[in-house]
Amino acid sequence: MQIIHADIVYSEDREHLAVHPDSYIAVEKEKVKGIWPVLPEEYKSAPLTDYGDGVLIPALSDLHVHAPQYLNRGLEMDLLLADWLDQCTFPMEAKYADPEFAKLAYDAFVDDMIANGTMHACVYGTIHSEATSYLIERMDQKGIKGFVGKINMDRSAPDDLREDPDESIRETEIFLEKYSKNRNTRPILTPRFAPTCTRELINGLGKLGRKYNAAMQTHLVESLWEAEQARLLFPECSCDTEIYERAGLMENGPVIGGHFIFPSEDDIRIMKKYDCYAVHCPDATISVIAGIMKTGTLLDRGLKIGLGSDISAGHHIGVYTQAARAVQLSKLKQFYEPDDNRKITFPEAFWMATKQSGKLFGGTGSLEPGAVFDALVIDGLSDAARKLTPEQVVERFCYIGTKENIKARYMNGEVLFG
Ligand SMILES: [Zn+2]
Repeated sequence: MQIIHADIVYSEDREHLAVHPDSYIAVEKEKVKGIWPVLPEEYKSAPLTDYGDGVLIPALSDLHVHAPQYLNRGLEMDLLLADWLDQCTFPMEAKYADPEFAKLAYDAFVDDMIANGTMHACVYGTIHSEATSYLIERMDQKGIKGFVGKINMDRSAPDDLREDPDESIRETEIFLEKYSKNRNTRPILTPRFAPTCTRELINGLGKLGRKYNAAMQTHLVESLWEAEQARLLFPECSCDTEIYERAGLMENGPVIGGHFIFPSEDDIRIMKKYDCYAVHCPDATISVIAGIMKTGTLLDRGLKIGLGSDISAGHHIGVYTQAARAVQLSKLKQFYEPDDNRKITFPEAFWMATKQSGKLFGGTGSLEPGAVFDALVIDGLSDAARKLTPEQVVERFCYIGTKENIKARYMNGEVLFG
């Protein structure tokens, strides 16, 4: 048992933050036991860590991030999706054929993710088995709860990134076999998206999904170009999402669909039917995708939505920045297309980055009793002339905070050092 004193903020529900100023939280083993304004007598002998005015919040979840593109962050952001893939993304991903290069890049990626408060993530690797194996082993060893996928693509990619479908399936099965019993970070099927995958490949992944009860991540109705390609290449399907449904990929582990910016009614129906997550990646939307998710409308229709940094279509690895950007974009969407969206509130954005997404990773993303204690202490955001309330500290952190504002990080109830 340990006790932490701080201001405590987490999502009560989609619309409300739970705020416990100047309070004590008890953590037993890896779970929250309770929160009190005055420490109960029975806990007074337990070790106490006092963060004073620091604000304790849940650690963040990144539901869409490309680890190999970490080295491209903040570069070539003036391109749009198809050109950006050809000129920026694919040449970088090809470099991961070299395991030594991959190791150097992935060590930096994982460290920076944790430094920025992300402890749960759905991560894309590349087509390369050795490099992607290093990534999943590294994340698992660091305790990050989540998923890593070896990307599959067998068409419309450069020669050095285009797989033979049989070999792609074989390598993916070895990856699933090897890491399905991982404690923290598990494998996920990752067909990149409709334009780079044949029906043969997607059906093969469907068989693996059933055999291993595997989760699946991909990009869904990401841009008008991608949605159109999906319709052209898979004319038997009414929408992008149906491509994966027909292969049986929606019926196994969790399904995480990146972007979901131009969904048809059929896309929405299928995602809701299988209780899938759509991922809003605001910076990526601004930089290379050029479309805005109708977040408010989709939330009101009961779709599960999380947030993603989408490195390197997005440029900042901190998911907290994406919570702020999600609010900003929802206002733009409402302004330009008032019939198609309502703006979201800051508590809704924070909930997407924490409690809503945390359900994917075994009951974390909250500080309520029973939650797995993955948490951050943030500080240094008030002004000398204006002391902020705890909830204002959280909002300001998402708008102008940096990793330097994270004073402590807890994973599974234990403080991380260094
Ligand atoms: Zn992506």
